[in-house]
Amino acid sequence: MRFDILSVFPDMVKPALSESMIGRACKNGILDIHLHNIRDYTKDKHRRTDDTPYGGGWGMVMTCQPIMDCYNAVVGNDKNVKTVYMSPGGKVLTQKMAMKLAKEKRIVILCGHYEGVDQRVIDSIVDEEISIGDYVLTGGELPAAVLVDCVSRLVPGVLPDDECHEDESIESGLLEYPQYTKPAEYEGMRVPDVLLSGHHAKIVEWRMQKSIEKTFKRRKDLLRKKKLGKKETEFLNKLKEESKKK
Ligand code: SAM
Repeated sequence: MRFDILSVFPDMVKPALSESMIGRACKNGILDIHLHNIRDYTKDKHRRTDDTPYGGGWGMVMTCQPIMDCYNAVVGNDKNVKTVYMSPGGKVLTQKMAMKLAKEKRIVILCGHYEGVDQRVIDSIVDEEISIGDYVLTGGELPAAVLVDCVSRLVPGVLPDDECHEDESIESGLLEYPQYTKPAEYEGMRVPDVLLSGHHAKIVEWRMQKSIEKTFKRRKDLLRKKKLGKKETEFLNKLKEESKKK
C-alpha cells in the first residue's frame, strides 16, 4: 500500500513512521511511504506557502498554488487515489474507518498548518476530511502519522500475525482484558492464578469476563453496539445487577 504525505514540515512525520513495525514493513516493501515538501513547489520568490486570510482575522492560510502543484506532481494521472485532508473539522477517525481505508491502494494525505488550507484546495482534490479527535493541534503532521500507523497495521503482512489484532480493544467491539508477562510475581504483585493454570477454556472465560467488566465500567456505548453470546450476556446481566445494588 502506498501513502504520499504532503506537508510543509515533512520531517515531523518521518521519525514516527521509520521505526518499529511500520518501518520494517517499509523495508520489506509491504508499505511504500513518500513524504513531499509542499514548499519545494512554491513559485513565491520568498518561498512562502501561506498568506493572510481574506476577510481579516488571525493567522495565516496555506495558499493554493504550492499545494496544487505538489499534488499534481505527486499524483499525475493516477485515478486510483484517495485524498485525505487531516482536519479538526473532519469526521473523527474510528477503527471502522481505518479498516475501510486499509483496502485502498494509494492514499494521499494533505497536512494543514497555521489556520489550515485555502478552501479551494479542499474543494478540488480532497475526498475525505479526517480528524484524530476533538482537540486542535498546530499541524496535520502528527495526525497524518496517526492515520498511517492505524491504517497500516491492518494491511496484511504488517503485523507479525494477521490475526493478532482481532482481540484488540475497540476492534473486537470491546475493550481488551488485562495483559501480564513474566515474572509471575513482581514486588508482591501476582499474576492471576488462572493465567498460570494452563487451562485454556478457563483462561478464555476469564478474559471474556474481564473484557466485559472493563467495557462495562468505561465504555457502555461499545456494549450497546456489540452482539454478545449467551455466556457473555449472562455475565453482563450479573454485572448490571451487582452495580444496581451498589
Ligand atoms: N483553523 C482550523 C480550524 O479551526 O478548523 C484549525 C487549523 S489547525 C491549527 C492547523 C492544522 O492542523 C489543520 O489544518 C489540520 O491539518 C491540523 N489539525 C489540527 N488538529 C487536528 C485534528 N484534531 N485532527 C486532524 N488534523 C488536525
